[in-house]
Amino acid sequence: MIVAGNWKMHSTPADAGDLAALIAGRTEHADVIRVICPPFVCLAAVREALAGRNVAVGAQSCHHELAGAYTGEISAPMLAGLASWVILGHSERRRDAAETDALISRKLTRATDAGLRPIVCVGEQLDDRVSGREVDVVDAQVRGCLAGHDPVVLAAAGLVVAYEPVWAIGTGRSATAQDAAAMADAIRASIASLGWGRQAAADVPVLYGGSVTSANAGDFFGEPGIDGALVGGASLKPDEMAAIVARAGLVGAARREAGA
Ligand code: PEP
Repeated sequence: MIVAGNWKMHSTPADAGDLAALIAGRTEHADVIRVICPPFVCLAAVREALAGRNVAVGAQSCHHELAGAYTGEISAPMLAGLASWVILGHSERRRDAAETDALISRKLTRATDAGLRPIVCVGEQLDDRVSGREVDVVDAQVRGCLAGHDPVVLAAAGLVVAYEPVWAIGTGRSATAQDAAAMADAIRASIASLGWGRQAAADVPVLYGGSVTSANAGDFFGEPGIDGALVGGASLKPDEMAAIVARAGLVGAARREAGA
């Protein structure tokens, strides 16, 4: 099980380390991979605060070029020593920075070349779901981001896909666990059809994201096809993270015992 916290544009270098250490201390579970993704400027402070705590640090994006005249941007190689994971294609980046699947695909190359473990985000708009197009939309996103990449390279990089229906992010309105699980299956089917084969696709962790809280995390984690959560707002609250990770820990231990 993986629980990744996306802090978005919250925290400062002065307070991020304390918050990360507090969360780390309250979320120790052997069967959960924990990741904290603070803003770029807080990476160093969070990394320092988490030294020796078995919590990974992730960035929230990286640029699609190695270097160049891109004012204000951060490339994947610049993250060396600061982060070991990176979120790519978050819907807020797609919305605010006009990130397309093609661009995210290029970022994915940069991320894996730099040794970063990628979390590629996909998810439909509300209109897409209302009109029954959600699987087609997400399938196109998965293909647009992953097609042309070597499955062996992405599997070795530990590719993670986060299913984040856009209408559920930061709205307090989450998908049902059943809908999320059905989409996780669809995502793996899309990956399989890209030359991965069924088993390799089945091994790709799929997270759910979208208004995950301590109150609903257990529902998502109870679905065998969901391997954890990408948590936004609740990831800034130590009490919430403690409860969410505890839920993930129970499921992770049960899956380990079942050999799943
Ligand atoms: C996110 O930022 O990826 C997210 C899912 O946010 P929230 O949990 O606040 O909906």
